[in-house]
Amino acid sequence: MFKKWQSITLWKRVLIGLFAGLAIGLAMRYGLGVERATHIADVGFKPFGDAFVRLIKMLIIPLISTTLVVGVTAMGDPKKLGTLGTRTIAMYLATTFFAVSLGLTMGSIIRPGDGINYESAAASAVDSVKGKIETADAAGGIVDRLLEIIPTNPVEAWANGAVLPTIFFAILIGIGILVTGRPADPIKNFFEAAAQVIMRVTILVMELAPYGVLALMTWVMATQGLEVVLNMGKLAIALYLSCGIQIGFVYGFLIIVCLLKLPLKQYLRGIADAQGIAFSTASSNATLPVTISCAENNLGVDKSVAGSVLPLGATINMDGTAIYLGLVALFAAQAGGIELTAMHYVMVAITATLVSIGAAGIPSAGLLLAATVLEVIGVTAEQSLLVIAFIFPFDRLLDMMRTLTNISGDVAVACAVAKWDDNLDEDVFRREAQV
Ligand code: ASP
Repeated sequence: MFKKWQSITLWKRVLIGLFAGLAIGLAMRYGLGVERATHIADVGFKPFGDAFVRLIKMLIIPLISTTLVVGVTAMGDPKKLGTLGTRTIAMYLATTFFAVSLGLTMGSIIRPGDGINYESAAASAVDSVKGKIETADAAGGIVDRLLEIIPTNPVEAWANGAVLPTIFFAILIGIGILVTGRPADPIKNFFEAAAQVIMRVTILVMELAPYGVLALMTWVMATQGLEVVLNMGKLAIALYLSCGIQIGFVYGFLIIVCLLKLPLKQYLRGIADAQGIAFSTASSNATLPVTISCAENNLGVDKSVAGSVLPLGATINMDGTAIYLGLVALFAAQAGGIELTAMHYVMVAITATLVSIGAAGIPSAGLLLAATVLEVIGVTAEQSLLVIAFIFPFDRLLDMMRTLTNISGDVAVACAVAKWDDNLDEDVFRREAQV
């Protein structure tokens, strides 16, 4: 029985785990009542989900550090990094531009804010959200954020799990190895071996993904239920639809099929494990090792690209979040009866893009930073707080979909950049084995 289960492709097992968790969680919530279901979910399921998330998070820093050093040394020429970086950032901006436009269009058609009275947000929700927003804002201004990319102490950056400083340091070490040449061979070999070992460990941990995903989904469904559909129905529909279009049309059709001439089916299958984990954890950061593993092992993206483009994407490329921020702005405007001009739309698009770049890849980060976007359409700070507190209790199910979209975009861009650099193994991409 167990052997038979293990012989099923991982992405199918992850999906089975996801749907089983969904069913168990909902059955618990609507069968046993909210209180008992929440208790059982907190005690019996959440610890398993948390253990799984900790296992993947444990791999983030070791995986980026080793893969990226190997990636840079494999490029053979530091100048190539410049081209790779420029293409990556250009693609990330282009996809985010589509995302914001899509969010604003959908928000104008579906009008999620009509008939909503966000002033009714519970006082307790307002208080709890206030503290969280302050912590999210504490990240500082854009100049501080840029400076922090340069670690004053790399070990401290590793210890804090800081992704961008780790990327920065690993790239420099890679360049150092390249320019040192032969005397650096021992350390180069060390990083190559270490990268392989950590990837093996990642693959091992992913074997637990179906169970981790099941535990997390059970917990989410038992504690949150589907109330989001009742309370935020139109916002949820607008978000899920926009994200679906962003994945199917922008990444799938425009990038994978038209631009890269690759089969859509393989792209979707190749990233399904990572999508399952993104959906159940609502964190692009926590999903990162799995995203890297899917890109390398299922889609044939070379280490040099997967190790650099994906960690950068998990931190700065958040198309689902950008869609959402546009939608929340329209939601607030429609609910508050604010008439928007064309200029407002442009300003929302620009700030939503910037905030999505600045948001961390952790649960609810996008919503907690929404005030910046609301400000440009004239929503006051107190009102923003009410809007955010009103949505917050239902955010998890929305967050799950935007995180899934965020990581799907990272992988599509990684495939594109890899292909243009001759770093995509199309045989692996097209392989039917992962079917
Ligand atoms: N949870 C999202 C992520 O990790 C960010 C967001 O809140 O939109 O990608």
